[in-house]
Amino acid sequence: MDANARPRRIVVIGAVAAGTSAAAKARRNDEEAEIVLYERDRHISYSGCGMPYYIGGLLSDFKEIVPRDAAYFKKKYNVDVRIRHEVVSVDPEAYTLTVKNLETGETFGDRYDTLVLATGAMPVILPVPGVEGDHVFPLRNPTHALGIRGFLEQRHPKSAVVIGSGFIGLEMVENLAHAGLAVSLVEKLPHVCPFVDPDLSPYVLEALEQHGVTVRTRLSASAIRPGEVELEDGSTLPGDLVILAVGIRPETGLARAMGVALGANGAIQVDESMRTNLPDVYACGDCAENVSIVDRRRFYRPLGSTANKTGRICGDVITGGPLVHRGVAGTGIFRVFDRAVAATGLNEREARATGRDVVVSHNIKPDRPDYLGGREMVIKTIADRADGTLLGVQIVGFEGVDKRIDVLVTAMTAGLKAADLFHLDLAYAPPFATTKDPVHYTGMILENALSRGRELLGGDQLAAAGEGVYTVVDTRVPAQYEAGHVPGAINLPQEQVREALAGLDRNKPIVTYCNKGVTGNAVQNILLNNGFKRVYTLSGGFRQFQSCRVAAGKLNCKDAARRIVEDEAVRPALQKDGR
Ligand SMILES: Cc1cc2nc3c(=O)[nH]c(=O)nc-3n(C[C@H](O)[C@H](O)[C@H](O)COP(=O)(O)OP(=O)(O)OC[C@H]3O[C@@H](n4cnc5c(N)ncnc54)[C@H](O)[C@@H]3O)c2cc1C
Repeated sequence: MDANARPRRIVVIGAVAAGTSAAAKARRNDEEAEIVLYERDRHISYSGCGMPYYIGGLLSDFKEIVPRDAAYFKKKYNVDVRIRHEVVSVDPEAYTLTVKNLETGETFGDRYDTLVLATGAMPVILPVPGVEGDHVFPLRNPTHALGIRGFLEQRHPKSAVVIGSGFIGLEMVENLAHAGLAVSLVEKLPHVCPFVDPDLSPYVLEALEQHGVTVRTRLSASAIRPGEVELEDGSTLPGDLVILAVGIRPETGLARAMGVALGANGAIQVDESMRTNLPDVYACGDCAENVSIVDRRRFYRPLGSTANKTGRICGDVITGGPLVHRGVAGTGIFRVFDRAVAATGLNEREARATGRDVVVSHNIKPDRPDYLGGREMVIKTIADRADGTLLGVQIVGFEGVDKRIDVLVTAMTAGLKAADLFHLDLAYAPPFATTKDPVHYTGMILENALSRGRELLGGDQLAAAGEGVYTVVDTRVPAQYEAGHVPGAINLPQEQVREALAGLDRNKPIVTYCNKGVTGNAVQNILLNNGFKRVYTLSGGFRQFQSCRVAAGKLNCKDAARRIVEDEAVRPALQKDGR
């Protein structure tokens, strides 16, 4: 048959999120093409994100996270999915590939007109003695998930050690605790949850400690033995089951061998159409790098949300569609016990590394009114001082974190500035939000700092400056001050400030604070309106200052919390003061 007359052959390698999305979209656009997916595993198109909950027993039926099989794809999309088939090599000049049937051991050749690499990522295996033990599991695919669940059901472990406190590690901590195990968490960095900045990490640590998890930081595992994990300092943790969650690497061995260019982050370089450097070879999902919508830098942020999106874009492009990939902010969210943790865009270190002058705010507000059980969330936002561009957001809270992160990343994507946030017409009713939403308050705080001289100072900056550099004014009632205050702070409750102005040194910068920022800001206003020039308010108030001290290893979570007397506890005194 004339090569030009035969249908185009699209070969996709990898059949999970990106590969199946690419194949399905290609078929929707093109009824004629031959579409073949090779997958070396036996499971396809599964929800990796649901696996921790299957392990923890929240889902009983494994099929709920692996709902589709090869027959489904054949019937619905006329796509051939060959499971247990590994593509072992590709010749991009001849447009051919070699495939190994892992069931029979047979090797055969195939050809393509268009090749899609959707080979994903693989877990990093910690190089420590004992890691090959049958009680040690990474978690990347259903084989791992079934192995862990089977281990729980058959061996009835009492204890688990999770190594690594990224989102997969933390989701596993929650689910293993839910399954009744005594769980320990090991993190080699100084702080748990590197997904957020160190100054938000204590909110996650607090959740872990409140749920009985033993947390060891600044240490890695040095040996794994049946029933225990030894740490670098020689101590041991009980571990009938061990979960390795120390990160993933893009799966790019095949791509590298065939001459596909990789980025500095080790993932496949692609353009906005998901094209690689080789003709007719595309890549999508966790094996490919991303471009940041914030600063257009290339980075690696492997997520299921992005894998599905880039798979669809890839499937569209290879069948003549108009989609292009605009980039990602790297938005992610996860739950650990009763806390939700979300982040998008640049973190503080990344934002400062761009050379921008940044403003960082910590906004601590209830997700809905107190009278309907509102609980606090902390929203850390990083903005560019030059024009109020939003660079990054991180949130830790209980409910409504998903909504706020999505509103803020939508604002970022649309190019809205800090000053625009207050004007968003967000939905309000008491079961869902406060009259001014936490997103509005974030905008107000940033805008006050950016345009109205209501400058913010971070708790870490204040601590780093040391005592005596600033006059630190604690604006709370004496009972709150006495329970705990910033070292060197004077207690000057708001209602006494106007009378005390003459006694304050006008030549020294002043920092005001209360528990979370509102009264501290009110006193900042009084001072600025009375001619004081350099007045800062402590970002996120004493609450956030304590979080910085926990992050610096100066305080533990319990002591930090004990020293904060909530306004509710001193309500009569505040009411007497007219606050
Ligand atoms: C426990 C867990 C929880 C997660 N939770 C979330 C979440 O809440 N939110 C979120 O956005 N993301 C989450 N993720 C990430 C998400 O699952 C991944 O981003 C997504 O699965 C990536 O899809 P992919 O198709 O690019 O790659 P993969 O899922 O890695 O699939 C690639 C496939 O390619 C196959 N393959 C590789 N090389 C070959 C070859 N040479 N021949 C044949 N087949 C090959 C592999 O066997 C693999 O099955 C989670 C991941 C895990 C593990």
